Amino acid sequence: MIIAIDGPAGAGKGTLAKRLAEHLRFAHLDTGLLYRAVGYAMLRSGQSPDDPEAAERVAKALDPATLSDPGLRGDEAANAASKVSAIPEVRAALLEFQRGFAATPPEGAQGAVLDGRDVGTVVCPDANMKFFLTATPEVRAERRVKELQERGLEAIYARVLRDMNERDTRDQARAVAPLTPANDALVLDTSTLDADAVFERALRYIASLNSARAILLAAPPDPRPPDPTGRPEQRARRKD
Ligand code: C5P
Repeated sequence: MIIAIDGPAGAGKGTLAKRLAEHLRFAHLDTGLLYRAVGYAMLRSGQSPDDPEAAERVAKALDPATLSDPGLRGDEAANAASKVSAIPEVRAALLEFQRGFAATPPEGAQGAVLDGRDVGTVVCPDANMKFFLTATPEVRAERRVKELQERGLEAIYARVLRDMNERDTRDQARAVAPLTPANDALVLDTSTLDADAVFERALRYIASLNSARAILLAAPPDPRPPDPTGRPEQRARRKD
C-alpha cells in the first residue's frame, strides 16, 4: 500500500507522514530530502544550484546515506533544493529511487508513506491514498519560525515568509511536476488544525476508503447482461 502526501512547506505533511508511517508500521520517505541533498551538495562544492548539468551529475551520484546530514534541514538547503528541483534532469534522476522505495519499502514494511510535492501526481500516480495539505503562507511561516527556533537556529518571521513565498512561486510555476493537488487527493487546509486533528482526519479518511473498498469487493457482480433499452425500471421487474 502506498500513501502519498503532498503540499507546500509548512503545511504539516512531514508530521502527518511520520505519524501515519509509525501508526501503520509503514516505511517513510521525505522526498524533499533528496532535492535538499542535491542542492546542499552543490553549495558545499561551490557549484551553482542553477547549473543544470552539474545538478544532474550530483543527482545521479546521490548517496542515500547523506540524507541524514542535519545541514539538510536548514533554509539554505531548502532554497537550493527549490532551484535544483526545477531542472527536469534532476527530477528524472531522483524518480527511480522514489518509485523503488514505494514499490519495495525497506525492512520488509507492508507499505510506504511518501511526502513531497509531486508524489500523488508524478512519482506514484497509482498510490492507494492521496492527501494534499495546505495552509495560509502566514501560518506556514509561523510554524517554520517555531521549528527553526526549537532547533536553536536564528529565524526572522519576515524573512522566512518571503523565502517561503518565493519557494511556493517557483514550485507552482515550474514546467515539470509543479506543485498541484492530484485529482483524487483529499485536500486538507490545516491553517486552523493542530497535528492531532490532521492525523485524526487522515485516519478517518483512510478508514472510509477502506470500508468503501471492502463493500465494493464484497458485492457480487450482477450476472444479468446490460438492458439494451437502458430502462432500469423494466430490468428490475423482469423475472429471471
Ligand atoms: O519538502 P521540503 O521543504 O524539504 O522540499 C524542499 C524543496 O524540494 C521544495 O521547495 C521543492 O522545490 C523540492 N521538492 C520537489 N519535489 C518533491 C519534494 C521536494 O520539487 N517531491
